[in-house]
Amino acid sequence: MNEFTKSFLRSAYKEYYFRWASSIEFPVDIEGREFGYIPFGAGMVRHLSFKNEGVAVAEILRQSPSSVYCSNARYERPTMPIDEKGWLGAELIFDIDATDIPTPCKKEHDLWYCEKCHASGKLPRPAKCSKCGGPTTEFHGICETCLDAAWEHTMRVVCFLTDDFGVEREAIRIYFSGNRGYHLQVYDDRFEQLDQLARGEIAEYVRGTSLPPSQSITSTLRRRTQTGAIGAGWTRRITAYIEQRREGYSGTTQKLVSEAIASQRALVDSSVTTDIHRVFRLAGTLHGTTGMSKTRVMSKDRFDPQEDPYVLAAKAVNVAVSFYPQFRARHRDFGPYKSVTVELPAFAAVQILTRGLGEVV
Ligand SMILES: [Zn+2]
Ligand SMILES: [Zn+2]
Repeated sequence: MNEFTKSFLRSAYKEYYFRWASSIEFPVDIEGREFGYIPFGAGMVRHLSFKNEGVAVAEILRQSPSSVYCSNARYERPTMPIDEKGWLGAELIFDIDATDIPTPCKKEHDLWYCEKCHASGKLPRPAKCSKCGGPTTEFHGICETCLDAAWEHTMRVVCFLTDDFGVEREAIRIYFSGNRGYHLQVYDDRFEQLDQLARGEIAEYVRGTSLPPSQSITSTLRRRTQTGAIGAGWTRRITAYIEQRREGYSGTTQKLVSEAIASQRALVDSSVTTDIHRVFRLAGTLHGTTGMSKTRVMSKDRFDPQEDPYVLAAKAVNVAVSFYPQFRARHRDFGPYKSVTVELPAFAAVQILTRGLGEVV
């Protein structure tokens, strides 16, 4: 990324923060949170703390960085190294990313490309470019099907939390991550003090990976005398599913159990939920590679991922694109591009520039 491109990105982000600083959503107890940011073309700066929202906004504006993060934990001394911070508790968080959910469309929009000659091809990514032997990178596209799948898994987490853990629906905040999925932040005191191990158990529970193997569930089901949905939690989910599907079903019970789990598990990223020192993207700030904002989602009907998170200006800019696959932004199709200079609206140019696949000219 050259200096010209870097300064274009900074000013595009600054313009957003200047106009829409009020959309930044700070958590409670701001002075006890650790903040961090990534400047364009540089490494992460962490262990920052702000007395109040005004000071934090001023710094975000001044830096106009590529990403801004805030801890889900509260600390006595947020600016100290991790083990000296004095951990006070942390909200339970979930990250649901389409990359982790198997969707049939991935073979259409995911690919590898060569960093040197920009040859590209279908995944799996070869270690070296088949044309020039240069280093290769994976490119993950995004489409409506992928985002719908991520939303579906997000709703499953909400169901687990409300039905199995007794969380009030109002205590769960849902955000579009700014890229390929959704973030959940749970404001329920009962989770605040949980350590890594306990949070890991919750993640494995919603992922359906801590369940006994389906053969053992199947043999338990065979021994039971009652029919219909029984028990609570996963047992109820599985038995209810089987009850619904059994009529006219010719496969094995074991297959039905596996189906019940696969159709209800939520593929959250366990490493995020487990990390009690996480700095999580701050709501209302811009994603570092897409330029989209991390946006609160009140309901799916009232959220358009092709419109609402695109908050950067539409002002046109000339970009010399070395390589970029086809993509969709604000309901418009762009690309594919290869060794070409194109005029693009800023909101579309950003993702090419941040990935180092084009420069402003
Ligand atoms: Zn190559
Ligand atoms: Zn897709």
